[in-house]
Amino acid sequence: MVGAHGDSPRIDLKQNPLYEENGVGLLKTHYYGGIKKYQWTTTPLALHGIIVKTNGERVWVSVGEEETDPVFYITDLPPHLSRGGQDDRKLTQGIDGEELNIVAGTMPFDDEKVSEKVKLNILKILNEKYGIKEVDFTSSELEFVPAYKARSVGFDESLIGGYGQDDKVCCYTSLRAILEVENPKKTAICILTDKEEIGFCGVTGMESHSFERFVVELLDKKGENSVGAVERTYSNSRAISADVDAGFDSTFPSYYDVRNSCKLGGGVCICKYTGARGKSGASEAPAEYIADIRRVFDENKVKYCSSELGKVDKGGGGTIAVTFANRGIDTVDIGVPVLSMHSPYELTSKFDVYNAYKAYKAFLNN
Ligand code: MN
Ligand code: MN
Repeated sequence: MVGAHGDSPRIDLKQNPLYEENGVGLLKTHYYGGIKKYQWTTTPLALHGIIVKTNGERVWVSVGEEETDPVFYITDLPPHLSRGGQDDRKLTQGIDGEELNIVAGTMPFDDEKVSEKVKLNILKILNEKYGIKEVDFTSSELEFVPAYKARSVGFDESLIGGYGQDDKVCCYTSLRAILEVENPKKTAICILTDKEEIGFCGVTGMESHSFERFVVELLDKKGENSVGAVERTYSNSRAISADVDAGFDSTFPSYYDVRNSCKLGGGVCICKYTGARGKSGASEAPAEYIADIRRVFDENKVKYCSSELGKVDKGGGGTIAVTFANRGIDTVDIGVPVLSMHSPYELTSKFDVYNAYKAYKAFLNN
């Protein structure tokens, strides 16, 4: 199986978001995943998600992707005002979590008798467009993401700039791979999971028992759904955690071990172990397993390199590889190197993306 995650760092709306201050309608947010908050200000944002009413009706929301759509915006101070204040904060506190407020409008509702005229006008627009009341935000999942499209980057157009490539670039390549696999030697599975960026948790995360349920359903069709059968299936399985790695950034060389970093354009990246500070929390892939994968890659002319996430005691991280491995499944992280990971606009190499697709396809076929 090849498992990637579809969620990416973003800005989520709080459940009681809308307020008015000094004639501006604003929305409170809570960021999702590990972001550098200052990167998310002064950039156009699109709104996506769902509002569910108490009658069960689901209202899908998508604003900001069409050229004619409005976008949303998080403000920052001009340099003229931040001297002696915000300028002296540490980079990580340049923008505070509670300062990630979304500008949602300034037009007042035309009625002298009401107090919060801008807020009321926004609620009127939302009611007309979606048929919702303010309390309906309580049962909503609304998320702000960068409102710009993926583009080729560089004179030679060898790179891809785009939001959410961690880990949608591996979702796309692994999905393309499995859709083209015919008559695999073993059962081939592509898993696109959610909630990786906040710890693989919840009903849609990789830790969820919904994965067990899926395996049981498969075994059920063969009449082999005992606990033992599930466990045996796991120990006979092999997985790739298809997730991105931090590509070497020449502007910040001191943060990497250059000999053990993946370079953009070097192919798909094999990461034997993740974890941090003494491999803590890593599910290290067995040497035998990696040797077998190298053989398949060599036979299928997949270009690959090997890396770990930053310098010892400096870098580190985790992926759903741990979740597979804890189930007794041999697992290794293999994915695309990314620069500026978790930023609103991440950078990858087209050559690496293509080799990821080739790698997943070769793995699933063999
Ligand atoms: Mn990831
Ligand atoms: Mn990530």
